[in-house]
Amino acid sequence: MKKQHTPLIVGNWKMNPATLQKSVALFTDIKKKLGTKKVNVEIVVAPPSLYIPSLSRLVKKSQVALGAQDVSSEIGGAHTGDVSVSMLKDQGVTHVILGHSERRALGENDMQICKKVSAALQSSLTAIVCVGEKVRDAHGNYFNDIELQVEALLQVVQKKHLPRLVIAYEPIWAIGTQQTATSDDVQEMKLFIQKIIAQKIDRTAVAKVRIIYGGSVTKDNAEALLTLGTADGFLVGGASLQADAFTGIIRISDQYGNKKT
Ligand code: PEP
Repeated sequence: MKKQHTPLIVGNWKMNPATLQKSVALFTDIKKKLGTKKVNVEIVVAPPSLYIPSLSRLVKKSQVALGAQDVSSEIGGAHTGDVSVSMLKDQGVTHVILGHSERRALGENDMQICKKVSAALQSSLTAIVCVGEKVRDAHGNYFNDIELQVEALLQVVQKKHLPRLVIAYEPIWAIGTQQTATSDDVQEMKLFIQKIIAQKIDRTAVAKVRIIYGGSVTKDNAEALLTLGTADGFLVGGASLQADAFTGIIRISDQYGNKKT
């Protein structure tokens, strides 16, 4: 069955590969394995920012869009080490991952993340905002963590920007651990997040926001997470560093793509 949204598959390369040459080789390999036949998937690769200018040239004639792993909430000026939204856009970046748990672990809080989300959405980037709990307890207290993160986020998002808001449900215990959430877990959390969107904005907003899943996604579990789990796509870490594994996830998602939506 076709999905409501075209699946969005985002490769988060994190601080990999170790050299620009290796990043160009990986990107070229992904492009080659995808071939020229159009896939029904929105594909994004988010490399380290230092590699963006070089990969920017390679994405031009491909089906892959360029993402960043973070952005400053400021438009310019004295912000040592930061990169602005306009700098990313100048290099052809269209998507940005925000609030990844690895950045939250460094001290980034909901307020800082929300400022970045506003900056990205106001400048027509697609914001992929990560939410997730550290652990799951038997009493379901982890739903409170997600509720707080999603509520903070929805406070800063204007209705007109909802189609460019993607919420990535990434339980921290599933990231890089090979302990993928079950399809039931993902479906339940998607419904929970949608309920918050309906309550905080309105029911029409629910269909506009894509909710993807991240946490040890592979080509072996992708199909169940998309169908039974009802994920609108995936944020992929480890498997995005291997062209075979990443394009395998894209091929599976392609079956469920629906370009009309
Ligand atoms: C991530 O870091 O966003 C992620 C989902 O990683 P992995 O796929 O390796 O679990």
